[in-house]
Amino acid sequence: MANENKIAIVTGGGSGIGFAIAQTFTEHNITTIIVGRDEQKLDRAKEKLGALCVPFCFDLTNLPAIPALIENVIKQFGVIDILVNNAGINLKKYFTEVSDEEFQKIIHTNLSAVFAMSREVVKEMLKKDHGCIINISSMAAQYGLPKVIAYTASKSAIEGMTKAMAVELSPKGIRVNCIAPGFIATDMSAKALDSDAERKQKVLSRTPMGKLGEPADIGEAALFLASEAAKYITGVVLPVDGGNAIGF
Ligand code: NDP
Repeated sequence: MANENKIAIVTGGGSGIGFAIAQTFTEHNITTIIVGRDEQKLDRAKEKLGALCVPFCFDLTNLPAIPALIENVIKQFGVIDILVNNAGINLKKYFTEVSDEEFQKIIHTNLSAVFAMSREVVKEMLKKDHGCIINISSMAAQYGLPKVIAYTASKSAIEGMTKAMAVELSPKGIRVNCIAPGFIATDMSAKALDSDAERKQKVLSRTPMGKLGEPADIGEAALFLASEAAKYITGVVLPVDGGNAIGF
């Protein structure tokens, strides 16, 4: 199928990695709906990305409203070919200082919303026996990172869910994969690393390529996984990390 006819949803497409994915998609003629809570952020992204970018202002933690969101997308575009579950939040705190509310908040955004979005989108994809879902995990799911307990739990669950979705949905024409970004230069990583020189040094010292990644590196990987070139790839977790996951 030509990219001109493809419709993608990128959650959290207004900034950071999601913006880079939306940029790569629109540069390749994929109509890309970006979802986020901050209308101004979405409008700024739309200004940069142009006519193929369609902002939808929506809080993904509003789970009961997700079916109506997807219905609205279908009403306007008729189909959803690609879903990138990218939106996510982080919380850096010592294990014993994390409250139940804080833990739930991370799980709600990073996991429950991914499930609810995927379920509603998959209902539409099943009508066409076709679709591609890309979940965004993290190095936190590859090895133990201190002070990010809820985030790690959510991202480990995303990887498990990717595999469970892939076995159930691939026979029906829907490929489900995951990208595990390494340390990528965005607002989120700046918040986690700039105030913690020791952690930044550790990240760089165990990244064989010796530098943080660029959001565009994740955009290119997402474009590949969403393309026909990846038509026999499903259920994988692809690290895009400058070798961080295998660094000593
Ligand atoms: P950013 O903070 O730049 O972007 C997160 C995006 O998620 C924002 O655009 C935000 O939009 C959106 N978002 C958050 N909560 C909600 C919500 N409730 N409803 C709708 N949108 C929401 O982070 P990154 O670009 O760095 O991260 C993107 C993804 O990549 C995350 O899943 C993160 O865990 C993952 N990741 C990042 C790494 C890095 O090094 N940067 C490393 C590994 C993984 P808005 O504010 O408008 O709601």
